Amino acid sequence: MNPWKLDAVGQECLAAVDTIATNVIAPAAVENDRQGRYPEAALKAFADAGLLGMVSAKEVGGKGQGLRAAMAAAERVAREDPSAAMVTIMHFCGAAVLEAHGNEQMRRQVAEGKCVTTLAFSESGSRSHFWLPVSTATREGDQVRLDAVKQMITSAGKADLYVWSSKSSNGEGLSSIWAVPGDSAGLSIPAPFDGMGMRSNNSAPITASELRIPAANVLGEDGAGFDLMMGTVMPWFSFQNASVSLGCMEGSLAACVGHLTRSAYAYDGSTLRDIPQVRGYVARMKVRIDMVRSLLLDGIDAVENGREDATLRVLQAKVAAAEASLEVNDMAMRVCGGAAFRKDVGVERYFRDSRAASVMAPVSDALYDFIGKAVCGMDVF
Ligand SMILES: Cc1cc2nc3c(=O)[nH]c(=O)nc-3n(C[C@H](O)[C@H](O)[C@H](O)COP(=O)(O)OP(=O)(O)OC[C@H]3O[C@@H](n4cnc5c(N)ncnc54)[C@H](O)[C@@H]3O)c2cc1C
Repeated sequence: MNPWKLDAVGQECLAAVDTIATNVIAPAAVENDRQGRYPEAALKAFADAGLLGMVSAKEVGGKGQGLRAAMAAAERVAREDPSAAMVTIMHFCGAAVLEAHGNEQMRRQVAEGKCVTTLAFSESGSRSHFWLPVSTATREGDQVRLDAVKQMITSAGKADLYVWSSKSSNGEGLSSIWAVPGDSAGLSIPAPFDGMGMRSNNSAPITASELRIPAANVLGEDGAGFDLMMGTVMPWFSFQNASVSLGCMEGSLAACVGHLTRSAYAYDGSTLRDIPQVRGYVARMKVRIDMVRSLLLDGIDAVENGREDATLRVLQAKVAAAEASLEVNDMAMRVCGGAAFRKDVGVERYFRDSRAASVMAPVSDALYDFIGKAVCGMDVF
């Protein structure tokens, strides 16, 4: 039974995601990880199935789905390949911002699957504190000049449109958000990504030097970037990132149980799963996975219904899932023993990929601080 409670179109979308995850993403996951190869085939399959426009409005040619369907898709893809899932969710994050604040042409391009997008927020100067960009936007007539050193951007060099943060061009507020075409003059990728995990998502640095875009490419008001980050980006990123962690845990558990079932001691024919302590770890993994799923289902319900605790759930979702994923993947490595170090057993890729969520902004330690402040009745920022 699928727990996401999607409408009929959402169920069709998820069925299409499932087919692509099984036939395109799973067979390529190991080699993409080994080579650090971007999941082009998955994106093409998503585009062909109309899924890049899944969260775009029907009026511009999209499927009209929301965050709930994006979470379901993220979980399904991450079960096979968390790295491809990150590429997918960053596209949906960008798409959600463009849906809310982009012009019709941008919205149509995303809806029609002609445009892969991502968030270009993190910078060398403000590191994980994405709400305080130090890169600049300088108004020049009807254009804006952007100069920036972005530090790790999923789909760097691959995205057609970056949802880009900078200081405002008018001195107002903490930041502004812009739509920056991927082929803009002045945009460069100074070094390729060669990561420990999430190896196929091209999370490379991006430099902007005298990059010019139309001033009309501002998303929301110039100077109102913080509101857009908190109002749109935070729920979309937090819940989807948590869903990637959920899928990462499920993929790891499946690989783990497969190994425990297959691996026997020749002297009596017993297998690893016959050891009660090993089963205890399997049970702990399952309990954590289902706790996270329950929190996410409740959290999306809180957001959709404008519940009082919606903001708290947004803050909790990513950190709860990220930290659970660290624990679950650690347990998978433990009970699969020395064999877990081998790539063919299939848990070490999830283990490596699982490390990313807790250090992606907002990092887990910052989220615990924010939640603690909220619970103590203090201002979060
Ligand atoms: C695989 C991957 C993909 C990414 N993709 C994108 C992307 O598409 N777009 C994008 O904009 N960014 C992306 N990032 C960047 C990411 O969002 C973070 O900005 C980055 O990982 C933070 O690393 P840092 O070394 O700058 O952290 P730092 O800011 O140096 O923090 C290091 C540590 O200090 C502590 N710390 C920092 N701040 C606080 C605080 N306020 N409270 C408590 N403790 C704190 C935490 O323990 C934290 O882990 C990606 C990162 C990864 C790993």
